[in-house]
Amino acid sequence: MVSSDNLYSRTLDALDEAGNLRTLSQAEHQGKWIWKEGKRMLNLSSNDYLGLAADTALRDEFMRTLSERDFLFSSSSSRLLTGNFTVYDELEQMLAELFGASGALVFSSGYHMNTGILPAVADAHTLILADKLVHASLIDGIRLSAARCIRYRHQDYGQLEALLAKSYKDYERIIIVTESIFSMDGDVAPLDRLVDLKKRYPGVMLYVDEAHGIGVRGKNGLGVAEEQGCMKDIDFLCGTFGKALASVGAYVVCSEVMRSFLVNRMRTFIFTTALPPLNVAWTKFILSRLGGWNDRRERLAEAALRVQAAVRGAGCECPSSSHIVPFIVGESNQTILKAEDMQRKGFYVLPVRPPTVPEGTSRLRISLTAAVTEEEVDSLCREL
Ligand code: PMP
Repeated sequence: MVSSDNLYSRTLDALDEAGNLRTLSQAEHQGKWIWKEGKRMLNLSSNDYLGLAADTALRDEFMRTLSERDFLFSSSSSRLLTGNFTVYDELEQMLAELFGASGALVFSSGYHMNTGILPAVADAHTLILADKLVHASLIDGIRLSAARCIRYRHQDYGQLEALLAKSYKDYERIIIVTESIFSMDGDVAPLDRLVDLKKRYPGVMLYVDEAHGIGVRGKNGLGVAEEQGCMKDIDFLCGTFGKALASVGAYVVCSEVMRSFLVNRMRTFIFTTALPPLNVAWTKFILSRLGGWNDRRERLAEAALRVQAAVRGAGCECPSSSHIVPFIVGESNQTILKAEDMQRKGFYVLPVRPPTVPEGTSRLRISLTAAVTEEEVDSLCREL
């Protein structure tokens, strides 16, 4: 038997050698700025896409509307016991109305959402067809389910259709799983095309994670599905509150029947303490204003186009058509050097390495926010 510490430290050494060791670092935040070791940098690594998280005027306005009823830092219970505060139902009703659906359910995080819904709805008679690049939380959800899973090549819908045609008669249920804006490549899935595809195979369901699309796309900020006019045809329209919406938690918009089913069967919903009412009230406040932030969405889209062009201009392949812009370097140690160079120049971008992205595709992940000015975008493009 090897001493357990030796076993783990060998793994850490190997990670370190490959440039893939991670450590937790400390930083101070001030709006779009981040301070590290006394240096101020533009934060291009957060998911505060609309620049709302540090908007103090907005926070003050919220505090004025906050009722004593919701001013609670803990729900002190799961929702099925005593944690189902009124504000939860109000938020879910608001979501269902905004998205034009009969039901919606709120979760503690996107990780809870993806690791909870799939195991609840997919049994041994189910086939899951998932895009090769879906987020780790979706992969974990698939692993926890009893379903068979096939991953199709990233955005290869020809392969997806061939898999559907071949397997359609063999399963009781088939669920297609995708993100709308992919978290590492920033490319956008044609959800309307996926809807057309699933309609040709009656009964096939579509699960879409809009973690990076909610807030930033669509005329009311409801995401890529709104932009592409197919919200009503997505069986599980999921998203998170911790990114553009500057809060915490996640949601699924679905049928009322599915909502009840999840309340009864979804373990990451049933067996966890409900979010604090204060956070839920803040999410509700942000969601009620979401439609009014087209100016922020437009600024973000313009900045994204310019940064994508700069990355391509630097000779790098850039799959992005969104505010998430990867600068793919390839090798991990080289990527770390490039990130350090950008940080010296005042841009806080981080290296993203395996296992988060496939081997040989280490990259800087530039995550834009509506809070950056035109001049800052100019200067970023020059430095890239
Ligand atoms: N889905 C996707 C696509 C994500 O990128 C993330 C987190 N980055 C999550 C889900 C998890 O969301 P949360 O941080 O709320 O757990």
